[in-house]
Amino acid sequence: MHNFTRRGFLARLQAVAGLGIVSGTAPRALAAASTPQPPAEDYYDKLGVEKIINAAGTYTFLTASIMPVPVRRAVELAALHPVRLHDLQQAAGKYLAEKLQCEGALVSAGAASALTLGAAACVSVANHPTVGDGVYEMIPVGASSLKNEVIVQKAHRYEYDHALLDCGIRFVEVETADEYDAAFTDKTAFAHFFNAAPGGSISREDWIRIAHKHGVPCMNDAAADVPPISNLWNYTKMGFDLVCFSGGKGMRGPQNAGLLVGRKDLIDAAVLNNNPISDRVGRGMKVAKEQIVGMVAAVDWFLSQTDAGMEAEFNRRAKVISDRLRGIPSVTTRTFVPPVANHVPHLLINYDPAHIKLTAKEVAEALRTGKPAIEVNPSTGADERSQIPSTPYTVVIGVWMLQPGEDRIVGDRLRQVLATAVT
Ligand SMILES: *Cc1c(COP(=O)(O)O)cnc(C)c1O
Repeated sequence: MHNFTRRGFLARLQAVAGLGIVSGTAPRALAAASTPQPPAEDYYDKLGVEKIINAAGTYTFLTASIMPVPVRRAVELAALHPVRLHDLQQAAGKYLAEKLQCEGALVSAGAASALTLGAAACVSVANHPTVGDGVYEMIPVGASSLKNEVIVQKAHRYEYDHALLDCGIRFVEVETADEYDAAFTDKTAFAHFFNAAPGGSISREDWIRIAHKHGVPCMNDAAADVPPISNLWNYTKMGFDLVCFSGGKGMRGPQNAGLLVGRKDLIDAAVLNNNPISDRVGRGMKVAKEQIVGMVAAVDWFLSQTDAGMEAEFNRRAKVISDRLRGIPSVTTRTFVPPVANHVPHLLINYDPAHIKLTAKEVAEALRTGKPAIEVNPSTGADERSQIPSTPYTVVIGVWMLQPGEDRIVGDRLRQVLATAVT
């Protein structure tokens, strides 16, 4: 097979040479001539990695999303040619800033790296006037001698704090607006906001207003907060100086891509903290050319959708599943839309353990270990950290990442598992 392919390639190469194609056009001609291609190998099968049906949602540990066809095709085309990485980063940023109605944009290695690069940008801009260009190399190890304080609401502390701490920052926690106003010092670098935080008494508008009164920028982590599509510009228009989005969640771009959008001078500073520069905090956060292009294509794809169209499709899938559960004793279904993150219809399946002798976690396990393997939403069987109302007898289905036809498979499997456990 390989020999055959190589011989074919050489023959075509000679043919191209024989045709006397001038060197300037040769690379394009060769790329075209190298089709037809060998059949693609399924490396999940080769590696023995089980494929799953994602009835959970855009969870990182489940590889989040599947790229739509136009995005996959753009990725494939991008793989055919080397480019100058910096040129691609700059051009992608400029294009995205226009589409997303903001001053500047950068494709990051996921929302987590947008948080790190955003923090590094704020620290750089706060300290550049006194420190100069040496500031970039001081992040993170020398950051304690810089303006490195980040003000945050106590209820907004979360696991992604680590992405900011990677820059050598120090958190200053506040609970009330008065405390917030008094927390600004000559060490303050920026104020951070977690858009989907379950608590916190200071509103987005007040958060921005008070920071700006002190001349300090605000960053907002809205990683999982599209749809609605308009959230891609709502928060920058509201006044946040930087906003972070995950590329592989609702936008269905590459899982290792994300967006940092906002003020041009801060985006420029983020670029100076990013790869391909070797001695910068973002050096290990490289997004390959294929995924930069994939992220841009995913934004184009996402902007071609409508909130109403997506919601109707998700409700249709939920109905396909709930229709298959009709008549099982005590089973009731309804949809629920979480308020900020993952703001799409989820199917909640409730039942009475007096009629069905399984906990919801046992239902999840039966689906996980069945064929095909199905992963349901992690808030199944109650999870106090989730904003989805769930009891030990609630199965939660995130329908939005299902592939065509999988709604029926999930419904049929759920029916089997639940009906078999009826007492
Ligand atoms: C998912 C998530 C992130 C990280 O996003 P990645 O794109 O996986 O890096 C950061 N913050 C919040 C709130 C998230 O939900």
